[in-house]
Amino acid sequence: MIAGVIVDVPAIGTDRTFDYRIPDDLASAVQIGIRVVVPFGPRKLTGFVISLKESSEHKRLKKIEDVVDPSPVINEELIDLGKWIADNTLCFLHSAYQSMLPAAMKMNYTKRIHMTERTDLDRFPENIQEALQSDKGLSWDEVLKMGSEYVRSVQTGLNEGQLDVQYEIRSKGNKKKQKVIKISKTPKELAEARDEIIKRAPKQAAVLNFLLESKHQEILTQTLIERTNSSRAAVKGLIYKQLLLETDKELYRDPYQDREFEKTISLPLTSEQKQTIEPILEDIHTETHETFLIHGVTGSGKTEIYLQAIEQVLHLGREAIMLVPEISLTPQMVHRFKSRFGSEVAVLHSGLSVGEKYDEWRKIHRNEARVVVGARSAIFAPFKKLGIIIIDEEHESSYKQEENPRYHARDIAIQRGKFHKCPVVLGSATPTLESYARAQKGVYTLCTLSERVNNRDMPKAEIVDMREELRSGNRSLFSETLFERLKDRKEKGQQSVLLLNRRGYSTFINCRDCGYVAQCPHCDISLTFHKRYSTLKCHYCGYEAQQPSNCPECNSEHIRFFGTGTQKVEEELNRLMPEAKVIRMDVDTTSRKGMHEKLLNSFAEKKADILLGTQMIAKGLDFPNVTLVGVLAADSMLHLPDFRSSERTFQLLTQVGGRAGRHELSGEVVIQSYTPEHYSIQLAQHHDFLTFYNKEMQIRKLHQYPPFYFLALITISHEELMYVVDICEKVAGRLKESLSSQAIVLGPVASPIPRMKDRYRYQCVIKYKNEPKLKETLNEILVHYQKRMQRDGLVVGVDMHPQTIM
Ligand code: ADP
Ligand code: ZN
Ligand code: ZN
Repeated sequence: MIAGVIVDVPAIGTDRTFDYRIPDDLASAVQIGIRVVVPFGPRKLTGFVISLKESSEHKRLKKIEDVVDPSPVINEELIDLGKWIADNTLCFLHSAYQSMLPAAMKMNYTKRIHMTERTDLDRFPENIQEALQSDKGLSWDEVLKMGSEYVRSVQTGLNEGQLDVQYEIRSKGNKKKQKVIKISKTPKELAEARDEIIKRAPKQAAVLNFLLESKHQEILTQTLIERTNSSRAAVKGLIYKQLLLETDKELYRDPYQDREFEKTISLPLTSEQKQTIEPILEDIHTETHETFLIHGVTGSGKTEIYLQAIEQVLHLGREAIMLVPEISLTPQMVHRFKSRFGSEVAVLHSGLSVGEKYDEWRKIHRNEARVVVGARSAIFAPFKKLGIIIIDEEHESSYKQEENPRYHARDIAIQRGKFHKCPVVLGSATPTLESYARAQKGVYTLCTLSERVNNRDMPKAEIVDMREELRSGNRSLFSETLFERLKDRKEKGQQSVLLLNRRGYSTFINCRDCGYVAQCPHCDISLTFHKRYSTLKCHYCGYEAQQPSNCPECNSEHIRFFGTGTQKVEEELNRLMPEAKVIRMDVDTTSRKGMHEKLLNSFAEKKADILLGTQMIAKGLDFPNVTLVGVLAADSMLHLPDFRSSERTFQLLTQVGGRAGRHELSGEVVIQSYTPEHYSIQLAQHHDFLTFYNKEMQIRKLHQYPPFYFLALITISHEELMYVVDICEKVAGRLKESLSSQAIVLGPVASPIPRMKDRYRYQCVIKYKNEPKLKETLNEILVHYQKRMQRDGLVVGVDMHPQTIM
C-alpha cells in the first residue's frame, strides 16, 4: 500500500502530498489521519497521512519509517477542511492541519495506551494485558515492535473505546491519575470468598463486605481503604487473590472541577426570542445548513437562545460548538453553560495550561463532552455529528487568526456547517458591516431582537465634551459630570465601571523641551512606560530599557511620561476619591493565571466600588449592582489610520454601554470625548445601529472598502531597506499586470510600523470585487520568491481579508 503524506516542510515547493510505501510491519498501523515519520532528503520528518492507495505513478518510493499516532488525530472532514483553508488563506497544508490540534500534540510526546471503563482485558493478547495493567500503561512504541497482529489488536481496542491513548507530556503537563478498584467477580463469588477468609483475614473480609453492601462497581482505592478502615496491604491481598482488579483512572485536569454548578433550566422565551429561535430549531430538526445573523441589543436574551438551541441539539444526540471571544470567556459565561449542561461542557481558552487544553480536547475526542465553549481555535473541535455552531459577538476581530493560517472562524464555521448540514448562528449587538450586508442581501437570515428582556430600558448615555472641560479649567481626566456621578454611586452603595481604551493611547516618554519620544531601537514604535518597574518596554519585540532621567537628545530634565494608562487613572482616582475602592484590570494585573477571575469575583462580591479597565471589561460582564459606566476617552482609537476605526469605536461604546443597568436598577453611561460630534459617538449614544450602518456603508462605498470590495494585504520584509522596496515594487507591478482593470493595487508603501525587530516592512493592498486569477497570481509570486525566502530571510506575507491594514 501507498500513503499520501503531507510533510512538515514549510515551503511552497513541498506543499503537496508525497507518496510513501507502507512497509509490511506497519501495514496495519498506518491509517488516514495519523502522523508518521518519513525520510525527506537527508532528514526525517513527521507528516500527516491524508490518503491511502494501491499504486503510485512514482517509482522507487521511500518507506514510512515510523508511526506517530496510534489512532487518527484528524478525520476526513478535517482533512478536506485543511485543503480548503490552505487554498483560501494561501497557507501550507501542514500548518492548516497543525492548527487543528492542541499544542500538546504538536510536540513529539510518548504515547501510552491505557484501559478505560469499557476494557475487556480477555480480548487482548497476554503480554498486552500485562502491560495495560502496569502503572505506566502500554507504550505505543512497544506495540509497534511487537508486530502487526498486536498493532491491530490495540487499534481495534482504540476504535471501540476499550482502550485510550494518552500523549504523555513530560514535566508538569503529566496526566493526573488515581488508582481505582474494580470488582471483577459476581456478588455470590465475593460472598463466598468473604466467608472463607473471615477468620484468617478479617480486614480483607471487611473490605469485601463493604463492597457487597455498598454495591460499588468501582471505587477509588484510597476511598475504599478509608471507608473500611483497612490498609493498602489488605486491598493488595484481595487483588493478589484476583477478587479485585486495580487500574489507573485518569483525572482530567478540569479547571472547573471543584466548582458546584447549580442546575438551571430553560426560561420561558419572550415572543421576540421565540420568533428568533424557531427557524433555528427547524433547521436543527431537518438537518439543514443555513447561516443566521441575530442582531440583538445587549441584554435582549441572545445567550438564552443559544442555550435552548444547544439543548435541542443535545436532545437529538448531536454536538455543539459555541465560540466566544477570548476576553468575554469570563467565568460568568462559562458558569451559564456549565449550569445548564454540566459535564457535557468542555471549555477551551488561552488561560488553560497546555495539559488542561489537551484534556478538554480529549473529552471531545472521546465523546465525553458534547458542547465546547471556547475561543477561536475551538472551531476545530473534533466532533463528528455537529448540530449547531454559534459565534457570539461575531464582530470581534479576535476571530481572525493573525498568523498563518490566517483563517477567520466565521468562514470555518460555515464550511463545517455545510458539511454537517447544521445551522450556523452569528450573534451581536453590533454586527460587522460585512455580516449585516450579507444578511440584507439574503445570504444570511436576519433575526432582530430590538428589546431587552422584560423591556428594561437601554441605559441613558450622555456625551461630555472634554474640550469644554479644558476651557473651563478642568485638567483632570474626569469631567465634572463623570466625577459627580461616581461620587453619587459611591454614596448610594452602587458600583461603577470605567473603561479606558488603551489602543492608541499607550503611555510614552516625551521631552517637553525638544519633543523627543523614546523609541524602540529595533522597531519604529514608541516604547511604553511601565511605572511599576520604571522601565520602558517595546510591545512588539520585548526590548526593555531603564527610564531616562534626562532627555538623551537635549539633556533636559523635563522628560516625563504622557498619555493615559490605567495606572495613571487609578492614581488620580485614589487622589480625588480616596474613600472609593478601585479594582484595576489590565494586562499587568491579570497576567498571572487565575487573576482575571479573582478580580472579577471580588468586584461581584462588592469588595470595590469601581472596576477600572481596558477593553477586557467591555464585554460579557453582568453585575446587577453596576449602574454607571464611564468611558474616559471615547475617541482614542477613532483617529487611528484604519478604515474600520469608526466601526470599532461604535462597537466598543455600544458594548460597554450594555454593561449598565441590566437588572432591577437602571443604568447610565457617560462618554467623554474630544470629538463628540463624530457620528460613531453620537449614534452609539442612541444605540442606533441601523443609522450607523447606513452612514458607514456610504463611506465604505465611496472609499472602496469592504463590504463593497475585498481586500488582500501583501507585506514584504527584510533587514535591508532597498531590497524590500525593490521587491515590493516588482510585486505591485506583477499584480497590476495580472489582475483585471477593476482591481485596485495600492502601494508599495511603508507599512504603518515601518520597521519591526530590525526588519523593514513594505506593503501593497489589493482592493477587488471579482478576481478569479488573484489566488493563482499570488501563488506564483510566492513560488517566484521561494528561494529567496528560504535563503536570504526575505518574508512575503499574504493576508486575505485583513482585519486591519495598518
Ligand atoms: P444577551 O446575550 O443578549 O446580552 P442574555 O441572554 O444574557 O442577553 O439575557 C440578559 C438577561 O436576561 C440575563 O440575565 C438572562 O438570564 C435574562 N433572560 C434572558 N431571557 C430571558 C427570558 N426569556 N425570561 C427571563 N429572563 C431572561
Ligand atoms: Zn529633549
Ligand atoms: Zn521593539
